[in-house]
Amino acid sequence: MNKIATSIYSIYRGKEAILTTKHGKLHPLALPLKAAVGLNIRVTKSIDTDQLGTFTGEIEREKSPRETVILKARLGINQSGTQLGLATEASFGPHPVALFIPGTEEVIGFIDDNLGIEVIESLISTETNYSGTSAKSIEELEKENFLAKALFPSHALIVKPQRPKRNFLKKLSYSLQGRQTFPSIFKGIKDYDALRQAIDLARAESEDGIALIETDMRAHMNPTRKRVIRKVAAQLGRRLRSLCPQCSCPGWGKSDAVPGLPCELCRLPTRNILLEVYSCPKCTHKEERERQDGLKFAYAGHCDYCNP
Ligand SMILES: [Zn+2]
Ligand SMILES: [Zn+2]
Repeated sequence: MNKIATSIYSIYRGKEAILTTKHGKLHPLALPLKAAVGLNIRVTKSIDTDQLGTFTGEIEREKSPRETVILKARLGINQSGTQLGLATEASFGPHPVALFIPGTEEVIGFIDDNLGIEVIESLISTETNYSGTSAKSIEELEKENFLAKALFPSHALIVKPQRPKRNFLKKLSYSLQGRQTFPSIFKGIKDYDALRQAIDLARAESEDGIALIETDMRAHMNPTRKRVIRKVAAQLGRRLRSLCPQCSCPGWGKSDAVPGLPCELCRLPTRNILLEVYSCPKCTHKEERERQDGLKFAYAGHCDYCNP
C-alpha cells in the first residue's frame, strides 16, 4: 500500500461542524468523525432539505448526489454562520455491477470555508433493504416474503396509492404549495396495525384499489442505512486525516481513476481501472498510483477484444 501522510493532531480537533439533516443522522456520523479527527458535530434542523429532493418522489431530484451534499452542507453553513459544514445523501437502485441485487450509494460532503475546500467521499454497498412492491393486504405481503426481506418492523415502510385518484392529485398540489406533508403517503410505518391501516387508506385513494409498499430509506427509520452512513463517515474521517504531500492541506485522497488495465490474455487495455488518481482539495497537486488491490491484469471477460 502507498503511504499517506496522516496527522495525529488534526486541525479539526475540538472544532464544530454544522450537519444539515432532518432525519437523525447525527448519531451514525458523529462517532467516526470524532474518533478520526476530533471534530464535533451540531445539527441544524430548521432547514427544509426536502426542497433539494426527497426519497418518496414528491419532488423530483434535479442535482446529482455529489452536487446535492455540497448544496445541503452550504445551506447549513449559511444558516448558522459557521465555517464547517457537513451533509449526506443516498441513492438506491440496482447495484452498478451486480445488477440483480439492490445497491446503495451513500455520499458525504464536507465544506471547510477557512481553507476554502470541499471534500466528498462516497461508498457503494449492497448493504441495503431497499425494495418495493404492490399489494392489497398484509397477507399478500407475507406470502411473497416481502416483510422479512424489508426487515420490517425493525425497518420502517412507506405506503401510498398505486394509481392515485384525481382528487388525491389535487390534494397533492395543494400540499406542495402549502409545504404540508402529503395526505395519503404514509411514512415511518413500524407496526402491523399502522401498516394494515395505511394499506386500507392507500387502497381507498387508488383507482385500482392497490397500495404501493416501499422501504423507508430515511436514516432514522432504517438501521441498515445508518450502518452505511457510519462507514462513509469513517471514510471521510480517514480522508481528513490524510494531508496533501505538497501543501499539507487535509483531505488528500482518491479523486479519479484512469482506465486501461491490460487484458490477462491479449494484453490490450480494457475499461477496467489501471491507475488511481489522488488529489488535493486545495492545491493542484495530483499523483497517479497503482491500484490498491494490486491487480495487474483484467479478466478476459471484461476485454472488448477477447469477449466482444
Ligand atoms: Zn483481451
Ligand atoms: Zn495541496
